[in-house]
Amino acid sequence: MITRSFLETQVEYLKGVGPKRAELLRKELDIHTFGDLIGYYPFRYIDRSRIYKISEIEPDLAYVQIKGTISQIRIIGEKRARRMSAVLSDDTGEIELVWFQGLKWIEGTIQPNVEYVVFGKPTIFQRRYNIAHPEIERASDFEKTISHTLQGIYSTTEKLKNQGLNNKNLVKLMKELVQNAQGKIPETLSSAVIKKLNLLSREEALKNIHFPDEPKLLQKAQARLKFEELFFIQLSLLKGKLLRQKKISGFVFAHVGEKVNLFYKEKLPFNLTEAQKKVIREIRKDLGSGKQMNRLLQGDVGSGKTLVALMSMLIAIDNGYQACLMAPTEILANQHLNTLVRMTEGIGVQVGLLTGSTPAGIRKSLHEQLLSGEMNILIGTHALIEDPVAFSKLGLVVIDEQHRFGVAQRAKMWSKSDNPPHVLVMTATPIPRTLAMTLYGDLDLSVIDELPPGRKPVKTILYSDAARLRVFGFMKQQIREGRQIYVVYPLIQESEKLDLKHLMDGYESIVRDFPPPEYAVSIVHGQMRPADKDYEMQRFVRKQTQIMVSTTVIEVGVDVPNASVMVIENAERFGLSQLHQLRGRVGRGADQSFCILMMGDKVSNEARKRLETMIETNDGFKIAEVDLRLRGPGDLQGTRQSGLLDLKIADLIRDERILKYARSLAGEILSLDPELEFPENQPMKQYLSIMNRDYVNWGLIS
Ligand code: ADP
Ligand code: MG
Repeated sequence: MITRSFLETQVEYLKGVGPKRAELLRKELDIHTFGDLIGYYPFRYIDRSRIYKISEIEPDLAYVQIKGTISQIRIIGEKRARRMSAVLSDDTGEIELVWFQGLKWIEGTIQPNVEYVVFGKPTIFQRRYNIAHPEIERASDFEKTISHTLQGIYSTTEKLKNQGLNNKNLVKLMKELVQNAQGKIPETLSSAVIKKLNLLSREEALKNIHFPDEPKLLQKAQARLKFEELFFIQLSLLKGKLLRQKKISGFVFAHVGEKVNLFYKEKLPFNLTEAQKKVIREIRKDLGSGKQMNRLLQGDVGSGKTLVALMSMLIAIDNGYQACLMAPTEILANQHLNTLVRMTEGIGVQVGLLTGSTPAGIRKSLHEQLLSGEMNILIGTHALIEDPVAFSKLGLVVIDEQHRFGVAQRAKMWSKSDNPPHVLVMTATPIPRTLAMTLYGDLDLSVIDELPPGRKPVKTILYSDAARLRVFGFMKQQIREGRQIYVVYPLIQESEKLDLKHLMDGYESIVRDFPPPEYAVSIVHGQMRPADKDYEMQRFVRKQTQIMVSTTVIEVGVDVPNASVMVIENAERFGLSQLHQLRGRVGRGADQSFCILMMGDKVSNEARKRLETMIETNDGFKIAEVDLRLRGPGDLQGTRQSGLLDLKIADLIRDERILKYARSLAGEILSLDPELEFPENQPMKQYLSIMNRDYVNWGLIS
């Protein structure tokens, strides 16, 4: 296994690195070994044979090379603004070069009347182009060194640059490494797969991703490495799923009994939508199969997921098991309690609630009722996980609005039962399919793709602060018609104090404009005690107040059908999926509803795109796609910590086809060889075990 140890060699043993730089590489880029370094791919390539004329520079160009002479080298500015400036000229014009650091060194290096090749990214400053911290090389040296026309560009950091690890030197290190790596990079895919897809070998691919001999080979290298990256994630997820199905036998809920029927016939106040029926059928099939269910239920806000959860729980109860329902906030847990108590009234179901603020006495009796089996359904927040609750026979766990729960928390829920219960994860954050395939690749997927009938799409309107009086007038009119209104303020941790002040100021100004006794205004925010929050929320639910001023604590799940207006203050500060969630709080009744986006005066292009998207569409899946495009998958709520989305080279949007193919091929291979025991599959098995050891504990992802 000499080959393995090459890639596992600590990076400081590479010529040109040493202990100090190695430490920086570890800290800044998480690069520990040769393998890590060779896996640090360029983020773009430039054509080194292409020299731009200064007159050709345009705003869209990322990196350019210019050949010319440098003059007017001087230090300008005071203190923090101190910088070195120089002028680069060719036969078409001039461009400024600037440096903020290493001034002395530069001053001593650059000589007048010598031709240089300057490489960097032009930016516009005070209407003129300049290049900050360009790389410079004498034209005569440049001609000697270009051996490859395409050169990779590596992203680097300020700290690395200060230690001399700029792009140019990273290229040097990489060259050293790639040369040494010859013959030492083991293949990870079976030869059958390589042949079938006509892929480059891993070694060829890694060589060409860093130093492509020609554009065609770069493409092939990218294709191979993208495929490999996506393929192994899918292989790992699907293998985990198979293993779980084999090891764990699920409780069998064989019959649909009395309570389900009673509920369906007597209690259900409306017809199920076709989509709800379809999903309930899928769940029933899982529950009766003898395998443990692990299903993700996706449905846009207001699509009626709670009902699906309730019917699934009733199936569990009919078969002699208990169920629990986890919600991300106390408000939501309370609301679920009310809904479930109301919906199951008279059919003999005991529902309890356990949250962080449940008093010790009640907690104790809850524990007893759970152990005795008397309690059928327990609703709660993550207090459910922390609390030493023990069930007598827990058969089904439903997790609502899952993006607030981490993967580890889901796993912990399992330990509440000898045999893992069935798990139904519900989410209203529509996740693009490609993302779902990766993030929840080992869960089965159900989708409610239809809203209950009679809903009018929410009208979304954008206003600037100047229109505030008009907005207040509109709110008054809606209140006169008996409607209720949410006013939501942003609150983020980084600026919590200031945000809280804005919220309180906003609340006071609303109370001034909507004075008692004619109006009543509720307020809810994260700093309040849970009991107070709940009190205020309940006043709103009972229509004792007409306006609810709050932070995003009401973002998820709250259901007040009579509320018809959602005003979002500083809407530009919210993420797209958050805006969509908030808008989903209205439009639940039959009346026309409105979402009013109040826009501050500093709005970035990206924020503008978010607001425009909100106006253009009500479709959660479309919104999720735009969100993914704008932010990249790593930033989507709740995905950051998963590690699953730190893709090195593949892109979940652009490489959708590769992803689908990788998933289906992984499935095919496992269906023939579930344990990867065939000799030809050994490279994949080995790579998978390294991956599992080094990175995520995939087994925990349920
Ligand atoms: P979400 O999927 O966002 O959790 P809810 O379960 O809160 O949605 O349902 C939203 C509202 O729609 C609730 O008031 C619920 O009673 C109602 N609802 C659910 N299913 C139907 C249906 N089939 N027909 C009419 N109304 C429904
Ligand atoms: Mg819900």
